[in-house]
Amino acid sequence: MARKLIVGNWKMNGSRQANQALLEGLRAGWAELPTASAADAVAVAVAPPAVYLEQVGGLLDASEIALAAQDVAVADTGAYTGDISAPMLRELKVRYAIVGHSERRKYQGETDAIVAEKAAAALRHGLTPIVCVGETLQERDAGQALAIVQAQLQAVLAHNAAQLADLVVAYEPVWAIGTGRTATPEQAQEVHAALRVLLQEAGVAHVPVLYGGSMNAANAAELLAQPDIDGGLIGGAALKAADFLAIIAAA
Ligand code: PEP
Repeated sequence: MARKLIVGNWKMNGSRQANQALLEGLRAGWAELPTASAADAVAVAVAPPAVYLEQVGGLLDASEIALAAQDVAVADTGAYTGDISAPMLRELKVRYAIVGHSERRKYQGETDAIVAEKAAAALRHGLTPIVCVGETLQERDAGQALAIVQAQLQAVLAHNAAQLADLVVAYEPVWAIGTGRTATPEQAQEVHAALRVLLQEAGVAHVPVLYGGSMNAANAAELLAQPDIDGGLIGGAALKAADFLAIIAAA
């Protein structure tokens, strides 16, 4: 069985002091996990705000926990005030870049086309993009959930057809993010299976598809047991070492 991937998205949370405490807790707890549920079975990454990547990278040094960015610029360099490029992230030993998170689609107006270009920028420089897709509650209620997420993923697959082997997809129903309302394992599995078909058609059936949306210590095991759920993208529950470790142990 392939290793599950658990990624903590800290969003705009943290401080130098809080990051240090969280990572000390994570590293101590990680050392106590039963071996079967640690490095052998689960790959883990954390995505702090960009200003803390260097600090967190230092604190993770020589650990099994990888570093992820919450976003990446389309361009590699130039007049893009506020943006951070893939080559810059690489200098900080970043391994993954989340692209197309629903909060960026909503607040920064990121379109499917921009998300596809961001995934391309990551791939060009050896970063693994974690491409987020997900429908709103209105779209789900209108019976459009599958069509929406398929279109979101297809935009990325079509734009990056030549270099898809190193990709991660995250299904994050917008109505489940930060709401405490999780998709049922059956709802999630249905969408994951549909995404898997698209990946199969693109020749990359092995690409992991993570679930995100109020995953926590109590519901992780059931979600992660679904055949097409290959891991989790965790928001709120990634901010407390004990909660995040419980999800890792459940994987
Ligand atoms: C997220 O924003 O990626 C997420 C899954 O958040 P939460 O776990 O808090 O719902």
